[in-house]
Amino acid sequence: MDKKNQKIETKCVQGGYTPQNGEPRQVPIIQSTTFKYATSEDMGKLFDLEASGYFYSRLQNPTCDTVAAKICELEGGTAAMLLSSGQAASFFSVFNIASCGDHIVCSTNVYGGTYNLFAVTMKKMGINFTFINPDCSEDELNAAFQENTKAVFGETIANPALTVLDIEKFAKAAHAHGVPLIIDNTFATPVNCRPFEWGADIVTHSTTKYMDGHGGAIGGCIVDSGNFDWMAHADKFPGLCTPDESYHGITYAEKFGQGGADITKATAQLMRDFGCCQSPQSAYYLNLGLESLHLRMERHCLNAQKVAEYLEGHEKITWVNYAGLPSNKYYELAKKYMPKGTCGVVSFGVKGGRSAAEKFMKKLSVIAIETHVADARSCCLHPASATHRQMNDEELIAAGVPGDLIRLSCGIESYEDLIADIEQALKEI
Ligand SMILES: *Cc1c(COP(=O)(O)O)cnc(C)c1O
Repeated sequence: MDKKNQKIETKCVQGGYTPQNGEPRQVPIIQSTTFKYATSEDMGKLFDLEASGYFYSRLQNPTCDTVAAKICELEGGTAAMLLSSGQAASFFSVFNIASCGDHIVCSTNVYGGTYNLFAVTMKKMGINFTFINPDCSEDELNAAFQENTKAVFGETIANPALTVLDIEKFAKAAHAHGVPLIIDNTFATPVNCRPFEWGADIVTHSTTKYMDGHGGAIGGCIVDSGNFDWMAHADKFPGLCTPDESYHGITYAEKFGQGGADITKATAQLMRDFGCCQSPQSAYYLNLGLESLHLRMERHCLNAQKVAEYLEGHEKITWVNYAGLPSNKYYELAKKYMPKGTCGVVSFGVKGGRSAAEKFMKKLSVIAIETHVADARSCCLHPASATHRQMNDEELIAAGVPGDLIRLSCGIESYEDLIADIEQALKEI
């Protein structure tokens, strides 16, 4: 059977690794920083990217590559790499194609860490970002582009705003301006949405979330669709389309083609220089998580749907945000891009605001208070008393996190137990 035609469930379990006769059934952990060669010439060819092979695990490691290959298959891409974290993946995905003096268009609704990386840290590196409301019109979106724009960035389902991105609208605008669309697909995962099928060119992940799924290992991934023609816009992307003097004058887009240029450059240059590599041990844990991703996503979505429906009908709840509810602003978009369901994260407000929210959370016992999301165990966070505690009520509203907002990440337990836990806690306020 052609592997390409296999269903996503089969790819989750078996993708990336095909053991030969007598080889281990499970992905081996190659816990070695370095690899042995018979001659210096053999090794020299690897350094020159003339041959492919392993020499130092900062650049590439067989365990990490095997797991990256699985994620590549899940997304339907041509090349992929693992990184030490989702933050590293976001950074590399942009910095691999943009440099000082360049500009990026980005949705306002992105993860807080991504926003800080882009708006503060990368700004210091001379890369400027224009943040645009993801619900903007096509005209507003097109107006955000500049001469020096090199990419567009957004999240399939934004963390924590839970807005759904109109990927086709963003892809159309990016391509009309000759630049790629980068999508952070962390919350949807390739089980629920494959952004390449809607025109995205590059996908990033914080594998720390659903992919690992057990709160076990921090990690990130970048996948290339192979669909973006760098050479057709060579003037915009000199890093990919002109010789790299730090690699013996290789031109990535020529030597590795549309399908391999971006990931090869990110590995050869950025991993070499920044070293945000994932450990083989973490990659092994990530692979274990991926083996059940399809099953877990189904349960995360079922639980979130049941919990959201329960909350929507409760008199002590002022509002519920979950794209699986027909009353939600993003219901139709979610149906289009994620027909199987969105994710397990729901946010809602409790009557009585900030103090009621705090009291409610103290009473929970199945659901734990954590900053984490997308874990097998249910957890929740009250941003106003945790991550955003320095803000007053007006500032919280301006930041899109009102004082009564609770972010609930539904795990894979029984939804009946989650609802019972919420019910007894609501009685207390
Ligand atoms: C958590 C998260 C990140 C950052 O990932 P880390 O693995 O924590 O570095 C990036 N994007 C999204 C959508 C996230 O939820």
